[in-house]
Amino acid sequence: MVKLLVVEDEPAMLAGLVDNLEFEGYEVDSASDGKKGLAKIETENYDLVLLDVMLPIISGFDILKHIRKKGIQNPIILLTAKGEEMDKVRGLELGADDYITKPFSLRELLARVKVILRRTLAAEQIGIDSKNIQIGRLIVNFESLEATENDSLIKLSHKEFEILKYMVKKVNQIVTRDNLLDAVWGDDYQPTSRTVDNFILHLRQKIDSKESNHIVTVHGIGYKLIL
Ligand code: CA
Repeated sequence: MVKLLVVEDEPAMLAGLVDNLEFEGYEVDSASDGKKGLAKIETENYDLVLLDVMLPIISGFDILKHIRKKGIQNPIILLTAKGEEMDKVRGLELGADDYITKPFSLRELLARVKVILRRTLAAEQIGIDSKNIQIGRLIVNFESLEATENDSLIKLSHKEFEILKYMVKKVNQIVTRDNLLDAVWGDDYQPTSRTVDNFILHLRQKIDSKESNHIVTVHGIGYKLIL
């Protein structure tokens, strides 16, 4: 059964979300402040977390920052109140998968939930650890770190494999330059976002063809891998 967590401090909103999500057939857990929410995310395994931004004790942004730093990758949809200056790029850079502004229609929220769950399922089905994933012109094996095109070996650097691996994990989702810098280069060495663009450029030359683009630019934000 698909298991969701709702972290929300307004009792009526929390109860409404839980009821409606349960009605849709999801197993739903809840937390009414940031501290409880964080504890649940760290101990349970949720398929998706609906995370309010303005929460008592620990904010939604801080929870997001904390769990992503620890490598916890549950999909997260941020909930933000109208009027709060919610920066889409900031949320995405912190590792949110989507966000929705209150007041939202239930239908819209349920649709977003379905989209995210479908994406996650797609990524699981592709199986990042399984051998031989077709990415555009290449067949990539992340275990042996080999890439081939029509049975000929194509040279990819270690960083290129790392970038691809991260993008496959986030297939069909926007990946910001900062996401890539954090995931591939880490804290020790921070190249500029220009470096990321150069790597993407080289990868595109190996992956994309005239007929099909698999690494798509999302203007002002980053990139998206489409398989
Ligand atoms: Ca709130």
